[in-house]
Amino acid sequence: MAFLAVKSMIEDNYKQRGLRGKLVRKLRQKGISDERLLEAIGKVPRHAFFDDALLGHAYEDKAFPIGHGQTISQPYTVAFQTEKLDVKPGDKVLEIGTGSGYQASVLLEMGAKVYTIEYNRELYLRTKDFLPELGYNPHFFFGDGSKGLPIRAPYNKIIVTAGAPVVPTALLEQLAENGILIVPVGDREKQKMIKVTKKKDKLIKEEFDFFSFVPLLGAQGWKE
Ligand code: SAM
Repeated sequence: MAFLAVKSMIEDNYKQRGLRGKLVRKLRQKGISDERLLEAIGKVPRHAFFDDALLGHAYEDKAFPIGHGQTISQPYTVAFQTEKLDVKPGDKVLEIGTGSGYQASVLLEMGAKVYTIEYNRELYLRTKDFLPELGYNPHFFFGDGSKGLPIRAPYNKIIVTAGAPVVPTALLEQLAENGILIVPVGDREKQKMIKVTKKKDKLIKEEFDFFSFVPLLGAQGWKE
């Protein structure tokens, strides 16, 4: 398969696979139980997203800088948000905040069709070039994801990977019936994880723990 041939160009040795297995065990201990999600995290070579200077930290359960003042999210955060999305193969998923492309890769490994939008032009260009080298091919968009991506709506699932001041209404409008939105909402320092399920005639809102994301910018986000 061409996909595997491209992937094999990135070195993924027994040490990295071992560290990845250890990370998966840690996520399980922290309460993540979606086996398809854990399997996906066990496959995505997180070290490939890191600069040489930080390579040794790739499988720590921590967020790290990826340039342009942005971060690759902590694996536990990626796992927590993804588990709440209840991703099924074939789901059409919109991700707000492409960043490094790591979250999009996990969603693709789970069999989702991924649309991902990034506000920072340099990051958008960098990730759009890099991710296909790993064999991951989401649909890349550049723009203000706080307004969603109406041209490809509706979506079964929407994941916001930056901290929003409010639940962006545009995202609720672009959710399909029975769709799920997961979004961290709060101030610029910390946000409560919010899950909204869109039923035929109502929205069901659930609230979870606090997390700390970089700010969601744009029309329904924070001012720069
Ligand atoms: N999902 C990313 C990953 O897997 O590496 C991590 C995302 S990082 C924590 C947050 C990202 O959201 C940054 O790349 C930032 O530029 C982006 N962002 C902020 N506001 C945005 C907006 N209105 N639309 C799209 N992306 C936005």
